[in-house]
Amino acid sequence: MGKSVLIIYTGGTVGMIDAGNGVLLPFDIHNLLKWIPELGRFEFKIDSLAFESPLDSSNVGPKEWQQIGQMIADNYAQYTGFVVLHGSDTMSYTASALSFMFDGLSKPVIFTGSQLPIGALRTDAKENILTAIELAAMTDKEGKALIPEVGIYFENHLFRGNRTIKANSENFDAFLSPNCTALAEVGVHFKLNEAQLRKPSAAFSFKSGLSADVALLKVFPGFSAKVFQSVFDNQYLKGLVLETYGTGNIPQDKHLIAGLQQLSERGVHVMVVTQCVMGSVELGRYATSTDLKALDVCSGHDITSEAAVTKMMHVLANNNSSETIKSQLRTSLRGEMTV
Ligand code: ASP
Repeated sequence: MGKSVLIIYTGGTVGMIDAGNGVLLPFDIHNLLKWIPELGRFEFKIDSLAFESPLDSSNVGPKEWQQIGQMIADNYAQYTGFVVLHGSDTMSYTASALSFMFDGLSKPVIFTGSQLPIGALRTDAKENILTAIELAAMTDKEGKALIPEVGIYFENHLFRGNRTIKANSENFDAFLSPNCTALAEVGVHFKLNEAQLRKPSAAFSFKSGLSADVALLKVFPGFSAKVFQSVFDNQYLKGLVLETYGTGNIPQDKHLIAGLQQLSERGVHVMVVTQCVMGSVELGRYATSTDLKALDVCSGHDITSEAAVTKMMHVLANNNSSETIKSQLRTSLRGEMTV
C-alpha cells in the first residue's frame, strides 16, 4: 500500500481567508490546493475531512477531542499518518487529550496551525502544513512510521504534544516544550531525535471517555481559602489539579490544608503541578510542601497544566478503582512527565 495522509481541518486562524473587507472567514478545506498548490507535488495521496463548522479553538473541548479522535480511529488503518489543522490557542490541550485517548499509537498524529491566516501574504500556514504532512508520512524502509506520537509542529520544531504550552501569541514560534527536547528539528534537513521518540508498546486502541468533574486551581499570594473551599465542596468534583509554587509549595494555611485533607477523605484525587515553566515538583523538599506530601496527593513532576488536566479527565473516566487512578496519575502514560 502506498503512503497516504489524512488532513483533519477543525478551524483556527490557519484556515482563514480575508473576505475582502478585512474580515477573516474560514475557508473550504477542499480548496486547500488553491491556497497551497505545492500540495500537488507530493507523490502520495492526501485526503481531507473537516468539522461541519470550523471552530476557533477557544470553542474546542472534550466533545471535539472525541470527534477528532473518532475520525482518526475510524481511518486509522487506511493512512500512513494524520495532520490536524487546529487553532493554536488550545492546541496543547487537544494534543494532550488525544495523546491519552490513544493507546499503542503507532502512527503520527501531527497538529499544526498558524499565526497568520492561510490567505495572508506572509502566512506561516503554508510551511507549517507542508512540513506537517511530510512528518506524518515519514516511514522507515519497512514502511513503519518514524513518529508514533501525537505531536505539534510549529515553525521548525516538532514537539511531543502533551509537553507543549502556547507561549507566544504573536511570534511564529508560538509553542514551547520546556521540559522535553524537540522530537524533530526541521531546517534544510529533518533531524529526528530518535532517542526521544516513543516506541508503540500495545495494540492501538481509542478510549473516548473524559470526565468533566475536574478543577484546575492556581495558588497565589492572598488567595482566599474560603473561595477555594467552595470548589472543594462541590459535590461533582472528582479530580483537582493544584498549581503550586516552585517544587510543590503552598502557603501554610490551616484552612487550605484542612480542605485538601477533606478532599482526600472523600476520595477526590489531587495532582500537584508547578507554576514554574521549567523544573519539577519535589514534595517534601521544603517545609511548605510537607503537608501535601502527608496527604498522599499525586505529584505531577514536570507535567504541564494542560497535560495534567486532560490526563485527569481521561484517567477518571476510564477507571473505577481509586488505586488504579492514583497509580496512573503517578505514572507517565504517554511520555507526558519525567518520572
Ligand atoms: N484564536 C485562534 C484559535 O485558536 C488563534 C489561532 O488559531 O492561532 O482558534
